[in-house]
Amino acid sequence: VGDSADYDSEIESICPFCGVGCQISVKVKDGRVKKVDGINGPANEGRLCVKGRFGFDYIHHEHRLTKPLIRRDDAPAKGLNVDPDNWRTFFREAEWDEAMEFAGGGLKRLRDEHGGASVAGFGSAKCTNEEAYLFQKLIRQGFGHNNVDHCTRLCHASSVAALMENVGSGAVTATFNEIENADVAIVIGANPIENHPVAATFFKQFTKRGGKLIVMDPRGVGLRRFASHMLQFKPGADVSMLNAIMHTIVEEKLYDQQYIDAYTENWEAEKAHLADFPPEKMEAICGIPAATLRDVARTFAGARAAMIFWGMGVSQHIHGTDNSRCLISLALMTGQVGRPGTGLHPLRGQNNVQGASDAGLIPMFMPDYLDVTDDGVRSAFTEVWESGDFSAEKGLTVTEIMDDVHAGNTRGMYVLGENPAMSDPDVEHARDALAKLGHLVVQDIFLTETANYADVILPASTFFEKSGTVTNTNRQVQMGRPALSPPGDAREDWKITVELAQRIGLDWRYDSPADVFAEMKINMRSLDNITWDRLMKENSVTYPSLSPDDPGQAIVFGDGFPRAEGRARFTPASIIPPDDVPDADYPMVLITGRQLEHWHTGSMTRRATVLDAVEPEANCSMHPSTLRKLGVEPGDMVRLTTKRGSITLMVRVDRAIAPDNVFMPFAFVEAAANILTNPAIDPYGKIPEFKYSAVRVEPASGQ
Ligand code: SF4
Repeated sequence: VGDSADYDSEIESICPFCGVGCQISVKVKDGRVKKVDGINGPANEGRLCVKGRFGFDYIHHEHRLTKPLIRRDDAPAKGLNVDPDNWRTFFREAEWDEAMEFAGGGLKRLRDEHGGASVAGFGSAKCTNEEAYLFQKLIRQGFGHNNVDHCTRLCHASSVAALMENVGSGAVTATFNEIENADVAIVIGANPIENHPVAATFFKQFTKRGGKLIVMDPRGVGLRRFASHMLQFKPGADVSMLNAIMHTIVEEKLYDQQYIDAYTENWEAEKAHLADFPPEKMEAICGIPAATLRDVARTFAGARAAMIFWGMGVSQHIHGTDNSRCLISLALMTGQVGRPGTGLHPLRGQNNVQGASDAGLIPMFMPDYLDVTDDGVRSAFTEVWESGDFSAEKGLTVTEIMDDVHAGNTRGMYVLGENPAMSDPDVEHARDALAKLGHLVVQDIFLTETANYADVILPASTFFEKSGTVTNTNRQVQMGRPALSPPGDAREDWKITVELAQRIGLDWRYDSPADVFAEMKINMRSLDNITWDRLMKENSVTYPSLSPDDPGQAIVFGDGFPRAEGRARFTPASIIPPDDVPDADYPMVLITGRQLEHWHTGSMTRRATVLDAVEPEANCSMHPSTLRKLGVEPGDMVRLTTKRGSITLMVRVDRAIAPDNVFMPFAFVEAAANILTNPAIDPYGKIPEFKYSAVRVEPASGQ
């Protein structure tokens, strides 16, 4: 509202929500953000979605933490039992010095008494690259091991595993904006209209120009309205469907032999493997007619330039890595990588999940995906850190750390901006683990569900209150700038982590995030030619950048891959059924995901006035025939029960959902989807199977 003269300041920064990484102008008046507009960033070209434009007032919410809190000696037992009205029963306010001594002292005591591996760390993809780097460094240098992870484990870990294995790099091979140069695109297991809304606008424009959009998803997601082909396949049947498409390409000799010979390996094995997947045999498994599978194969293979986009519908399965392997093979056999309008693009979820992974906030890789088991890699970092060696063993992942708590090994945790008490599968298991911890330090902007279990809570900063870089789904490293100071005694996250490191005995000295970025660049070749000063001037540089004035490479791997002999690899994938299949007691399939108005565990968007007003209530969606069978009306309450637990919530009707499926978002604590989900994990990416749980649905009106 109003023009520039109406505001005290206008700051250019980055949207704090999804991985599209829209650039924004933040207008401030009287210490409050009054308006957010899109500016001309490379990913958004001035556009914003409802979250970016209207979802910012959580930063001024009365629930913001403004003082450190320490659990009271006489607090009731740990549980999900703290609310905005009763928190003083559980916590007392403290000054920073006491809180930091308590936080650091507790972690140090565990390290000294039980060894460094008794303390694990969960960082956050909502924080900056510099904060992610510091966090992983604190666990590795301060506690001597690699039990440090973040929510990439719950979203695209299997995609990264497959990309690293077969392409040699965990990031996208082309920006999503490259779709403007494509004539065919596949979007599979993703719902960009709700989850990457600004990217979706480019996809829609592509179809208006005549591009063929092939949408594949067990739900009839919104993009189907723009699709040339909508393949609503059976949940969990991705490999059978994709192998059938590739079978057709092989059988009809539609592959690009020249490209395969020049840039790939293991083709003969892939070709032989695909012989077992004729569409006529696979149609019963995946639910898509053979003729459609063949038509899609011809359309994709016949494209001049084609791209593949995928989301968590692909990755969140026990065969998530196999799903991504299939997509990589499809692109390789048709030579659809490394040219304008071609490429592989896993649509990343949070605004810095790409950057946090790049910065080494994962248990198996150091920054830039350097192998933590490699002695030379570790010594390159310890030389910069001026410290001794740390464990050469890959660390535990998010869900493995919770198991390790139950096993009595992990006794303390430092959690920065993550909310495992909502986001972990079989979440009661995670909540019980948090309650068991001897010392839990939580750093966040709100008293989240995870903070309910904390021994000490450190009040942190929103993205509008901090400096730092973030890296979006397009590999664009972008500059975030503070529009406000943190409220009350809250502090920027990087400062809290630095002081915590000092309290556990590390000699860390950084004056600013720019200092941290300079240190990151020493061992991260991806940041070559990208400097803090340059980002302050240009706002965004895509990595890799080949020279100080190269804006960066939107497309990579046109002349080979970062693997042995420059060749990408075909890794054949077999059909592995989902872990928790329906039976007489649990006859339907539960699919969880996000929705337009709410983001992840809801800690921010449920405190954003406009977003929560639009979508205030926990809900699930089912086909009208399913509702009729159950004898319930839209708006009635239903009970969903899986082998893990039971919840009651409102049901909506959605014709785009298959009659034996239920969809529900996971942002609502009052009916937490993850009470129901299955913790079984993909063996490579260690990602849980959030997208498939056998479920029973019953009417629950009146409850
Ligand atoms: Fe923010 Fe993503 Fe929406 Fe862009 S598309 S405004 S980054 S939530």
